[in-house]
Amino acid sequence: MKKSGYKYIFGPVPSRRLGISLGVDIMPHKTCSLNCVYCECGATTNLTIKRGEYIPVKFIREELKNFLSGNPKLDFITFSGSGEPTLHTGINEIVDFIKADYPQYKLALLTNSTLFSQGNVIEQVLGMDIIIASLDAATEKIFVKINRPHPDLYFKQIIDGLICLREKFSGQLWMEFFLVPGINDNEIELGKIKNLLADVNPDKIQINTLDRPGTESWVKPVGKKRLIDINRFLSGFEVIKDFTAEKNSLVPKENDFIRFLSTLKRRPCTDKDVSLILGIHVNDVKTCLEPLIKSGKIEKKEMPRGVFYIAK
Ligand code: SF4
Repeated sequence: MKKSGYKYIFGPVPSRRLGISLGVDIMPHKTCSLNCVYCECGATTNLTIKRGEYIPVKFIREELKNFLSGNPKLDFITFSGSGEPTLHTGINEIVDFIKADYPQYKLALLTNSTLFSQGNVIEQVLGMDIIIASLDAATEKIFVKINRPHPDLYFKQIIDGLICLREKFSGQLWMEFFLVPGINDNEIELGKIKNLLADVNPDKIQINTLDRPGTESWVKPVGKKRLIDINRFLSGFEVIKDFTAEKNSLVPKENDFIRFLSTLKRRPCTDKDVSLILGIHVNDVKTCLEPLIKSGKIEKKEMPRGVFYIAK
């Protein structure tokens, strides 16, 4: 396999929570059980709770083997991307493969928490080192407003699933709570969320706000001062902060524009992100990306945190 031909792995990207993270996207683009208003991958096109081997495990293993054989310096291999990874019934096979053949790498799962009450989903993710599970609401009403779930998902079952996950999973469980101004950022909602998260009893709770362009343009980021106030109100929560990595801490030889575009499809990037991913100086990013902008492959978008590059 040509190094540039990766379809299911992307990055490594500088993650604000996990350091240098190689992404593994085991689901087809926007196949998800939710259609969140803030999703940075665009609207969900296949809203489903049906689990399956959406992408053959052997293809994913092949790509991982090819990439990891170069022994890249990574902090994490992260199951994430443009769909919900726990919809894939082969997720445990992929975890087992990495743990057996590449035990030096830690594994993280980014999940929307919706499927832990289904069948053997919990058992299939017990090999992860960290599970970062999101929960943005304390009631069915707010859940529907923000996360726009598949009609057969019930909020109460999701909470029960999370509590059960906590009981069985011995790794780190982090919960992520995404603030959507005007919907879940008032004191009543925040108080309810705080109680609910305490029931789940995660190791860490992080609050997050819009950072990259979201699906719905009416979703706005929460300002710094408000974030500090909310953080104080929730006391003990951690605000996800910018990741600052040493330049050239990645694996420049593995980087090329095709893989970069594959990353961009799953995650809009700032100048700094591009610099880290491509291993180039931040001042060279604009010149470097000009041909891709001119050819219509990518576009620039102004956001409060600066300019973002997005795959078209
Ligand atoms: S944010 Fe995550 S859970 Fe929500 S729609 Fe996007 S991929 Fe699905």
